[in-house]
Order: sequence, then C-alpha cells, then structure tokens
Amino acid sequence: MDSPARSIPFGKPIIGEEERAAVLEVLGGTQLVHGPRAKQFEADFAAFVGGGFATSVSSCTAGLHLAYFHLGLAAGDEVVVPAQTHVATAHAVEFTGARPVFVDADPETGNIAIDQIEPVLTSRTRAISVVHYLGLPVDMDAINGIARKRELFVVEDCALAIGSRYKGVHAGLLGDLGSFSFYPVKHMTTAEGGMVVTRHEAIKTAIERKKAFGVDRTVSERAIPGVYDVTMLGYNYRMNELEAAIGIEQLKKVPGFLQRRAENARVLRQELENIEEISVLSDGDGDREHSNYCVSVVLNEKIATNRFEIITALRASGVGTSVYYPLAVPHTTYYRDRYATPEDAFPAASHISRQSIALSVGPHLDGDDMKYTARALKSAIEDSRK
Ligand SMILES: *Cc1c(COP(=O)(O)O)cnc(C)c1O
Repeated sequence: MDSPARSIPFGKPIIGEEERAAVLEVLGGTQLVHGPRAKQFEADFAAFVGGGFATSVSSCTAGLHLAYFHLGLAAGDEVVVPAQTHVATAHAVEFTGARPVFVDADPETGNIAIDQIEPVLTSRTRAISVVHYLGLPVDMDAINGIARKRELFVVEDCALAIGSRYKGVHAGLLGDLGSFSFYPVKHMTTAEGGMVVTRHEAIKTAIERKKAFGVDRTVSERAIPGVYDVTMLGYNYRMNELEAAIGIEQLKKVPGFLQRRAENARVLRQELENIEEISVLSDGDGDREHSNYCVSVVLNEKIATNRFEIITALRASGVGTSVYYPLAVPHTTYYRDRYATPEDAFPAASHISRQSIALSVGPHLDGDDMKYTARALKSAIEDSRK
C-alpha cells in the first residue's frame, strides 16, 4: 500500500528546547521534590486562570480523589456523575466508598443533561460533578443553582478544559473545586500531572495537606527541619520538580496552542459542513468559550455501523482519530456489574459512544491538515457506503 500523503497523529506533545533545559537544570540540582518549581508552577497556573488558588497534584484523578477525600465521603454518600466521561470522574468517587449516581448526556453537547439532575438527588447526595466535555463549558449557573438549593459541593473535571470559560470565568473557578490534567495528549503536558484550582483558600490549604501525608506544615514552612506533626490522614499525591519544570515552560506556550486549536477547529468545522451523513457536537456560544480539545463528529443512522471501517480508512489515509468515550461509564463492566446498569439506560451517552469519531485540531496541525482530514473523512464515508 502507498504511504499516505499526510501524517496527522491525533495527539502529539510539543516539547521544545525550553522544557529539555528546565528538566536538566532540576537534575543538576539537589531538590527533586518540595522545591520552588512546583510553587512557581502553581502561581503561574493561578495567574493563567485569572484568580483563585492552585495546588499541584500527581494527576487529575488524584485531584478529584482529594476533593472527595476532603469532603469526607464514605459508604452511603452519593455524588452525581456524568455518564459520558473518562472513567476517572467516577472512579474518584468510588475510591471513597461513596456511590456515583450517573446522569445521561445532552445529545447536542455531550455535557451532563442538567434537567435530569434534580430527579436523582436524594438525602444522601453530597456533591455534583461535571465534566466540561471535550472542552465545552457546562452551564454552570444552572449547576450552581441546583447545588445552592441543596448545599451540595460542585466538582469540575477540567481535564480537557484549559482555556474553557463560562461567562468569562475560567473552568475550575466556577464550582467549588476543579481538577486539571497534564497527561501527554491534553492541552499541555508534564508527562503525568494535574492541578487543583479553587476559589476557596481553606480548600486549597486542606488539599495541600492531604496530598502530602496529612503533615501539618509543608517542607518550606518548617523553620527547623524535622519539627512537624501529622494531624490527619493523607496520600502521597504531590507533583515532583521535574514535572513542574516542564509545566512552567508548557504553560507559557498554552496561549499559542489555544489559538492554533481555535483556528484549526474553525477550519475543520467549516469543511465538515459539506458532509451530510454527520452532525458535529456544539462549539459553544457567547457564554461558553470552548477549549477545542477536538472536534467530535456523530455518524447518522445510515452509516453508524460503518464506524470501524471509517476509522480504519482514515488511519490508512494517515489521519489518527480517537473515540470519547467508547463506552458510557455506567456501561463499562466494572460499573455495570456493580450497579446493575440496565442495557437501555443513558441512551444519549451511548449514542455518542457508539456513533462518534473524534478528529484532532491539536497545535501540531495546521489548516491544510484540517482540509485533508475533512476530505479523508468524506471519502472514507463514501467508500463505506459502497
Ligand atoms: C484524561 C482525563 C482524566 C484523567 O486525567 P489524569 O491526569 O490522567 O488522571 C480525567 N477526566 C477526563 C475528562 C479526562 O479526559
């Protein structure tokens, strides 16, 4: 077979000389954890989102877990969780013994179906979690309205929401706590890593203790080394200095990455208008600034069963794709077995899971790549109908 005309990987971290030099500097020094870089990265990140308090963690999942651990959740408690998300959104609740109570997706956006939240609330509900699906902000006025009436804690899974804003406010500062991911294919990377952001200083301080064994003061706060106490239970969920050094450099590049993503998404969405067999998930509106993690197309009924054929043809053309997410979380074996999910539950999430293909608009790509992607998709669909 001929090699394809272009190579368009779905995700590709952009690591430059700056990140390499920063890592080598850490390795040449003596402080691999508890150093100044994590502190600086936290300050830089808080400045980037435009306020609040930030504390670095070892992953987005760790940050979400710390949120529920901080709330003291246990068996008998319930948390509202979107059905259409990364399994980490639900696992973080499950770790504590509490039960994730799933809510279906809005078919136009992939975000949690807000009108289906209140019917599942009970006296045991402690929190509502949302995921800004593929970077499209959830209608947080509506979420906060429901939460306020019932005094529920609001957790934002911001793994794909660097650059997502709702009414001008950055994701993570809309609820009580947000957790970001720096896993390689996200908007920026530290290899593994995450950041917890909150408007409440007390929550930030508590998370800071609980991510480091529950010790009552950080290393930098210890006037005399060795003088500290342990006042609570805590994990080891810190970010190390190597990761933080990469993060500081990556964050400087984020505004450029976001611009590239927005431009790519604009071109791709325009090109996709010529393909009648698909619909495209919403790109936001005046109130909702999308972080353009990717563009997810939903195949219509006529070609839905051809999805794997289409994905395979795209790959042969050099176009990498992904699926977000191949199974709605309550339909994965673990959750289905544990909570006996009926097969026909969460139809909107299942529809997106079964019929969508995610196309990349990452900053490693340009406008010509977008036109090529759209053409490749169009011919893959046509071929699959023959
Ligand atoms: C990637 C992702 C996570 C997990 O992030 P980690 O940093 O790998 O823990 C959680 N939620 C969503 C929506 C994600 O996309």
